[in-house]
Amino acid sequence: MQGQHGALIGAIEAGGTKFICALAKPDGTIVARARIDTRTPAECFPDVAAFFREAAATHGPVTGFGVASFGPIDIDPASPAYGTFTTTPKPGWQGARFHDVLGAFGVPIVVDTDVNGAAIGEWLHGAGQGARTLAYTTIGTGVGTGVLRDGRSLMGFSHYEMGHIHPTHDHAADPFAGVCPYHGDCLEGLVAGPAIIKRWGTSLDQLAGDPAKIELIGGYIADLAADLVLMHMPDRLIFGGGVSKAPGLIDVVRRRTAARLNGYVCNPRLDPGLQSYIVTPGLGDDAGITGAIQLGRQALGL
Ligand code: ZN
Repeated sequence: MQGQHGALIGAIEAGGTKFICALAKPDGTIVARARIDTRTPAECFPDVAAFFREAAATHGPVTGFGVASFGPIDIDPASPAYGTFTTTPKPGWQGARFHDVLGAFGVPIVVDTDVNGAAIGEWLHGAGQGARTLAYTTIGTGVGTGVLRDGRSLMGFSHYEMGHIHPTHDHAADPFAGVCPYHGDCLEGLVAGPAIIKRWGTSLDQLAGDPAKIELIGGYIADLAADLVLMHMPDRLIFGGGVSKAPGLIDVVRRRTAARLNGYVCNPRLDPGLQSYIVTPGLGDDAGITGAIQLGRQALGL
Protein backbone atom coordinates (compact mmCIF):
# COMPACT_ATOMS: atom_id res chain seq x y z
CA MET A 1 0.00 0.00 0.00
CA GLN A 2 1.33 3.38 -1.00
CA GLY A 3 2.27 5.48 2.00
CA GLN A 4 0.47 8.72 2.59
CA HIS A 5 3.50 10.77 1.63
CA GLY A 6 4.73 8.76 -1.37
CA ALA A 7 4.78 10.29 -4.82
CA LEU A 8 1.99 9.11 -7.12
CA ILE A 9 1.78 9.98 -10.80
CA GLY A 10 -1.47 10.57 -12.63
CA ALA A 11 -0.93 9.55 -16.26
CA ILE A 12 -3.22 10.06 -19.23
CA GLU A 13 -2.82 8.71 -22.75
CA ALA A 14 -5.41 10.77 -24.59
CA GLY A 15 -6.39 9.37 -27.99
CA GLY A 16 -9.08 10.13 -30.50
CA THR A 17 -11.24 7.19 -29.39
CA LYS A 18 -10.18 6.53 -25.80
CA PHE A 19 -8.36 7.94 -22.80
CA ILE A 20 -6.21 5.54 -20.80
CA CYS A 21 -5.87 6.92 -17.29
CA ALA A 22 -3.49 5.41 -14.74
CA LEU A 23 -2.27 6.10 -11.26
CA ALA A 24 1.32 4.91 -10.95
CA LYS A 25 4.26 4.85 -8.60
CA PRO A 26 7.37 6.68 -9.82
CA ASP A 27 8.94 3.30 -10.70
CA GLY A 28 6.15 2.82 -13.24
CA THR A 29 4.03 0.33 -11.28
CA ILE A 30 0.39 1.04 -12.12
CA VAL A 31 -1.89 0.85 -9.06
CA ALA A 32 -5.15 1.90 -10.76
CA ARG A 33 -6.17 2.11 -14.38
CA ALA A 34 -9.27 3.01 -16.41
CA ARG A 35 -10.39 3.36 -20.00
CA ILE A 36 -12.66 6.30 -20.72
CA ASP A 37 -14.30 6.79 -24.11
CA THR A 38 -13.32 10.04 -25.83
CA ARG A 39 -16.34 12.27 -26.27
CA THR A 40 -16.48 16.05 -25.93
CA PRO A 41 -14.39 17.53 -23.09
CA ALA A 42 -17.60 18.46 -21.23
CA GLU A 43 -18.56 14.78 -21.33
CA CYS A 44 -15.29 12.99 -20.62
CA PHE A 45 -13.27 15.42 -18.45
CA PRO A 46 -15.60 14.82 -15.43
CA ASP A 47 -15.01 11.06 -15.79
CA VAL A 48 -11.23 11.68 -15.84
CA ALA A 49 -11.43 13.81 -12.69
CA ALA A 50 -13.63 11.22 -10.96
CA PHE A 51 -11.16 8.42 -11.75
CA PHE A 52 -8.22 10.28 -10.24
CA ARG A 53 -10.26 11.41 -7.20
CA GLU A 54 -11.36 7.83 -6.49
CA ALA A 55 -7.93 6.33 -7.16
CA ALA A 56 -6.34 8.94 -4.88
CA ALA A 57 -8.84 8.16 -2.12
CA THR A 58 -7.65 4.54 -2.18
CA HIS A 59 -3.94 4.90 -2.88
CA GLY A 60 -2.96 8.40 -1.79
CA PRO A 61 -2.89 11.85 -3.38
CA VAL A 62 -1.66 12.48 -6.91
CA THR A 63 1.58 14.48 -6.78
CA GLY A 64 2.08 15.15 -10.50
CA PHE A 65 0.44 14.57 -13.86
CA GLY A 66 1.85 13.40 -17.19
CA VAL A 67 -0.34 13.71 -20.28
CA ALA A 68 0.40 12.32 -23.76
CA SER A 69 -2.35 13.62 -26.02
CA PHE A 70 -3.66 13.80 -29.54
CA GLY A 71 -3.40 17.26 -31.00
CA PRO A 72 -2.62 19.73 -32.30
CA ILE A 73 -1.97 20.94 -28.76
CA ASP A 74 0.20 23.59 -27.12
CA ILE A 75 3.10 21.74 -25.46
CA ASP A 76 5.29 24.76 -24.70
CA PRO A 77 5.56 25.02 -20.88
CA ALA A 78 6.34 28.74 -21.26
CA SER A 79 3.10 29.42 -23.14
CA PRO A 80 0.03 30.79 -21.33
CA ALA A 81 -2.01 28.28 -23.34
CA TYR A 82 0.15 25.28 -22.32
CA GLY A 83 -1.97 22.13 -22.52
CA THR A 84 -4.64 23.69 -24.78
CA PHE A 85 -5.92 22.08 -27.99
CA THR A 86 -5.35 24.46 -30.87
CA THR A 87 -6.64 23.80 -34.40
CA THR A 88 -8.11 20.34 -33.95
CA PRO A 89 -11.17 19.66 -36.13
CA LYS A 90 -12.47 17.29 -33.43
CA PRO A 91 -15.83 18.77 -32.30
CA GLY A 92 -15.67 20.52 -28.93
CA TRP A 93 -11.92 20.12 -28.44
CA GLN A 94 -10.54 23.36 -29.84
CA GLY A 95 -9.68 25.54 -26.85
CA ALA A 96 -10.10 22.71 -24.32
CA ARG A 97 -7.26 22.54 -21.82
CA PHE A 98 -6.01 19.69 -19.66
CA HIS A 99 -5.45 22.15 -16.83
CA ASP A 100 -9.25 22.69 -16.77
CA VAL A 101 -9.71 19.15 -15.48
CA LEU A 102 -6.38 18.53 -13.68
CA GLY A 103 -5.72 22.00 -12.24
CA ALA A 104 -8.03 21.33 -9.27
CA PHE A 105 -5.49 18.80 -7.96
CA GLY A 106 -2.98 21.62 -7.48
CA VAL A 107 0.07 19.65 -8.65
CA PRO A 108 2.52 20.04 -11.58
CA ILE A 109 1.28 18.96 -15.02
CA VAL A 110 3.45 18.03 -18.01
CA VAL A 111 1.67 17.79 -21.39
CA ASP A 112 3.20 16.37 -24.56
CA THR A 113 1.89 14.83 -27.78
CA ASP A 114 0.79 11.22 -28.12
CA VAL A 115 3.60 10.63 -30.61
CA ASN A 116 6.23 12.03 -28.23
CA GLY A 117 4.67 9.98 -25.44
CA ALA A 118 5.01 6.77 -27.43
CA ALA A 119 8.57 7.75 -28.34
CA ILE A 120 9.38 8.21 -24.65
CA GLY A 121 7.80 4.83 -23.84
CA GLU A 122 9.93 3.15 -26.51
CA TRP A 123 13.04 4.96 -25.24
CA LEU A 124 12.38 3.81 -21.68
CA HIS A 125 11.36 0.17 -22.16
CA GLY A 126 11.17 -0.63 -25.88
CA ALA A 127 13.16 -0.47 -29.10
CA GLY A 128 14.68 2.91 -28.29
CA GLN A 129 16.61 1.86 -25.21
CA GLY A 130 20.15 3.21 -25.12
CA ALA A 131 19.54 5.82 -27.83
CA ARG A 132 20.57 9.35 -26.82
CA THR A 133 18.83 10.84 -29.86
CA LEU A 134 15.82 8.82 -30.97
CA ALA A 135 13.31 9.42 -33.78
CA TYR A 136 10.00 7.59 -33.46
CA THR A 137 7.54 7.76 -36.34
CA THR A 138 3.99 6.47 -36.37
CA ILE A 139 2.23 5.83 -39.66
CA GLY A 140 -1.46 5.08 -39.18
CA THR A 141 -4.46 7.33 -39.64
CA GLY A 142 -1.88 10.12 -39.72
CA VAL A 143 1.90 10.42 -39.81
CA GLY A 144 3.92 11.95 -36.99
CA THR A 145 7.48 11.87 -35.70
CA GLY A 146 8.79 12.56 -32.24
CA VAL A 147 12.48 13.25 -31.71
CA LEU A 148 13.95 12.73 -28.25
CA ARG A 149 17.24 13.77 -26.70
CA ASP A 150 18.08 11.82 -23.54
CA GLY A 151 14.44 10.82 -23.18
CA ARG A 152 12.97 14.30 -23.52
CA SER A 153 11.09 15.48 -26.59
CA LEU A 154 12.50 18.21 -28.79
CA MET A 155 10.25 20.99 -30.04
CA GLY A 156 10.30 24.49 -31.45
CA PHE A 157 7.52 26.99 -30.83
CA SER A 158 5.29 23.94 -31.26
CA HIS A 159 5.60 20.18 -31.66
CA TYR A 160 7.09 18.91 -34.90
CA GLU A 161 4.84 18.16 -37.88
CA MET A 162 7.17 16.03 -39.96
CA GLY A 163 4.32 13.98 -41.41
CA HIS A 164 3.67 16.96 -43.68
CA ILE A 165 7.01 17.11 -45.47
CA HIS A 166 6.81 16.56 -49.22
CA PRO A 167 8.51 13.40 -50.45
CA THR A 168 9.58 13.13 -54.08
CA HIS A 169 6.37 12.36 -55.95
CA ASP A 170 6.63 10.89 -59.43
CA HIS A 171 3.15 11.64 -60.79
CA ALA A 172 3.61 9.25 -63.71
CA ALA A 173 4.35 6.33 -61.40
CA ASP A 174 1.77 7.40 -58.84
CA PRO A 175 -0.94 9.73 -60.22
CA PHE A 176 -2.72 9.79 -56.83
CA ALA A 177 -3.17 13.42 -55.73
CA GLY A 178 -3.02 12.70 -51.99
CA VAL A 179 -5.59 13.29 -49.27
CA CYS A 180 -4.08 15.95 -46.97
CA PRO A 181 -6.62 18.80 -46.78
CA TYR A 182 -3.74 21.28 -46.42
CA HIS A 183 -1.07 19.95 -48.81
CA GLY A 184 -2.53 17.18 -50.97
CA ASP A 185 0.50 15.00 -51.60
CA CYS A 186 2.55 15.57 -48.47
CA LEU A 187 3.83 12.38 -46.83
CA GLU A 188 0.69 11.96 -44.73
CA GLY A 189 -1.42 12.65 -47.80
CA LEU A 190 0.35 9.85 -49.69
CA VAL A 191 1.06 7.09 -47.16
CA ALA A 192 -1.31 7.31 -44.16
CA GLY A 193 -4.00 4.68 -43.86
CA PRO A 194 -6.78 6.81 -45.41
CA ALA A 195 -4.55 7.62 -48.42
CA ILE A 196 -3.84 3.96 -49.08
CA ILE A 197 -7.51 3.00 -48.80
CA LYS A 198 -8.58 5.82 -51.11
CA ARG A 199 -5.86 4.94 -53.65
CA TRP A 200 -6.20 1.14 -53.68
CA GLY A 201 -9.41 0.32 -51.81
CA THR A 202 -7.75 -1.67 -49.04
CA SER A 203 -5.10 -1.43 -46.34
CA LEU A 204 -1.41 -1.92 -47.10
CA ASP A 205 -1.12 -5.17 -45.17
CA GLN A 206 -3.64 -6.64 -47.64
CA LEU A 207 -1.33 -5.64 -50.52
CA ALA A 208 1.75 -7.57 -49.39
CA GLY A 209 1.53 -9.72 -52.54
CA ASP A 210 1.98 -6.60 -54.67
CA PRO A 211 5.66 -5.64 -54.28
CA ALA A 212 5.34 -2.55 -56.49
CA LYS A 213 2.84 -0.99 -54.07
CA ILE A 214 5.00 -1.81 -51.02
CA GLU A 215 7.99 -0.36 -52.88
CA LEU A 216 6.12 2.86 -53.70
CA ILE A 217 4.97 3.49 -50.11
CA GLY A 218 8.33 2.43 -48.66
CA GLY A 219 10.08 4.87 -50.98
CA TYR A 220 8.03 7.80 -49.69
CA ILE A 221 8.68 6.81 -46.08
CA ALA A 222 12.40 6.48 -46.85
CA ASP A 223 12.42 10.15 -47.86
CA LEU A 224 11.36 11.02 -44.30
CA ALA A 225 13.85 8.54 -42.84
CA ALA A 226 16.74 10.06 -44.79
CA ASP A 227 15.61 13.57 -43.83
CA LEU A 228 15.52 12.53 -40.16
CA VAL A 229 19.10 11.27 -40.43
CA LEU A 230 20.27 14.48 -42.08
CA MET A 231 18.44 16.83 -39.70
CA HIS A 232 18.80 15.07 -36.35
CA MET A 233 21.47 12.33 -36.71
CA PRO A 234 19.46 10.01 -34.45
CA ASP A 235 21.01 6.91 -32.93
CA ARG A 236 18.00 4.90 -34.14
CA LEU A 237 14.79 5.27 -36.14
CA ILE A 238 11.61 3.48 -35.02
CA PHE A 239 8.64 3.09 -37.38
CA GLY A 240 5.34 2.10 -35.74
CA GLY A 241 1.63 2.41 -36.48
CA GLY A 242 -0.71 0.23 -38.50
CA VAL A 243 0.72 0.99 -41.95
CA SER A 244 4.28 0.17 -40.80
CA LYS A 245 3.16 -3.38 -40.01
CA ALA A 246 2.61 -4.23 -43.70
CA PRO A 247 4.82 -7.24 -44.48
CA GLY A 248 8.01 -6.27 -46.27
CA LEU A 249 7.57 -2.52 -45.83
CA ILE A 250 10.36 -1.93 -43.31
CA ASP A 251 12.84 -3.81 -45.52
CA VAL A 252 11.96 -1.44 -48.38
CA VAL A 253 12.37 1.57 -46.07
CA ARG A 254 15.82 0.32 -45.01
CA ARG A 255 17.00 -0.25 -48.58
CA ARG A 256 15.58 2.99 -49.98
CA THR A 257 16.92 5.06 -47.05
CA ALA A 258 20.41 3.68 -47.66
CA ALA A 259 20.03 4.50 -51.35
CA ARG A 260 18.90 8.05 -50.53
CA LEU A 261 21.85 8.69 -48.20
CA ASN A 262 24.17 7.06 -50.76
CA GLY A 263 27.05 6.62 -48.32
CA TYR A 264 27.22 10.29 -47.37
CA VAL A 265 26.64 9.71 -43.64
CA CYS A 266 29.22 7.29 -42.28
CA ASN A 267 28.79 6.16 -38.70
CA PRO A 268 28.87 2.73 -37.04
CA ARG A 269 25.23 3.26 -36.02
CA LEU A 270 24.26 3.08 -39.68
CA ASP A 271 24.92 -0.65 -39.99
CA PRO A 272 25.06 -2.31 -43.42
CA GLY A 273 21.46 -2.85 -44.51
CA LEU A 274 20.26 -0.62 -41.63
CA GLN A 275 18.84 -3.72 -39.90
CA SER A 276 19.60 -2.42 -36.41
CA TYR A 277 19.24 1.26 -37.32
CA ILE A 278 15.67 1.24 -38.68
CA VAL A 279 13.48 -0.88 -36.43
CA THR A 280 9.88 -1.57 -35.42
CA PRO A 281 8.52 -0.80 -31.92
CA GLY A 282 9.40 -3.04 -28.99
CA LEU A 283 6.31 -2.25 -26.94
CA GLY A 284 2.74 -3.02 -27.88
CA ASP A 285 -0.16 -0.84 -26.90
CA ASP A 286 1.48 0.17 -23.59
CA ALA A 287 4.03 2.56 -25.14
CA GLY A 288 1.67 5.53 -24.76
CA ILE A 289 0.77 5.11 -21.09
CA THR A 290 4.40 4.19 -20.29
CA GLY A 291 5.44 7.50 -21.85
CA ALA A 292 2.71 9.41 -20.00
CA ILE A 293 3.97 8.03 -16.68
CA GLN A 294 7.48 9.15 -17.62
CA LEU A 295 6.09 12.64 -18.38
CA GLY A 296 4.63 12.55 -14.87
CA ARG A 297 8.11 11.79 -13.54
CA GLN A 298 9.29 14.90 -15.39
CA ALA A 299 6.47 16.85 -13.68
CA LEU A 300 7.87 15.69 -10.33
CA GLY A 301 11.37 16.75 -11.35
CA LEU A 302 12.58 13.13 -11.39
ZN1 ZN B 1 -0.10 17.69 -45.14
